[in-house]
Amino acid sequence: MERFRAAGGTHLFLATQNYDPSVTFSLEAYARQFETTWLLAEKARADVGVRVYPVLAPYPIDLVEATGRLGAEVALEVYRSALDLAGRYVREKKAVAIGEVGRPHFPVADEVRRVVEPAFRHALEVARDVDCPVVVHSADLSADGFAELAERAREVGLRAERVIKHYTRTRIAPEARAGVVPSYLARRELVREVASTPGPWFLETDYLDDPKRPGAVLDLTTVPRRAVAIAQDPAQGADRLWVPFVESVERVYGWRPELTSEGAAV
Ligand SMILES: [Zn+2]
Repeated sequence: MERFRAAGGTHLFLATQNYDPSVTFSLEAYARQFETTWLLAEKARADVGVRVYPVLAPYPIDLVEATGRLGAEVALEVYRSALDLAGRYVREKKAVAIGEVGRPHFPVADEVRRVVEPAFRHALEVARDVDCPVVVHSADLSADGFAELAERAREVGLRAERVIKHYTRTRIAPEARAGVVPSYLARRELVREVASTPGPWFLETDYLDDPKRPGAVLDLTTVPRRAVAIAQDPAQGADRLWVPFVESVERVYGWRPELTSEGAAV
């Protein structure tokens, strides 16, 4: 977090993760995990002055192993209860979104697929009920995939603009998004490509993606470094940062990032 601050970073959304070596199966374990994420956010604000906004949910991939160990019915029940708990954090303003939720990015057994869909639907319902966005984990999506996601949200009464497709790896034209919001992986070429496109969209890093592919991980300092590069590029300029860092937060989350002591909402 100190390195993020030193690179110019002041605010970030932090998706929760499993801090234990084994897969999470119980509501108690999710409760510990969410509390840890919230405490990390509080600590970053107190110690480093970085505003960290927690994004909480039981990780959808957990369902794969949980279904095998607990059976579909119990696995789904634990997952739903954990989503409800994440919703309570949002209500209590200890988190700002439900995520990551969605579907495994790899083929799964039919038994798992039957659990994944109602689990995802419940995530959308919780987001609707507590009035916040959902951050979706899924395979890469075509325009049809974006439309399908928007449709799933609409079915439960959630606006498509409340749905963020995280880990978007190519530029998605506005007309191909069906209202769903891409969060782009902050690779240099992709950032250059999307910097001038209309919002809403976000930039992200996958700090702890796959330890087997260390080269694939973008360091936490990447987004602030890209932002500085855009601001200093005479062909672009700091105005370009308004879309991902202010306007998109306002449109998708419904509030404006708090100003820091430096008066910058970046
Ligand atoms: Zn993900």
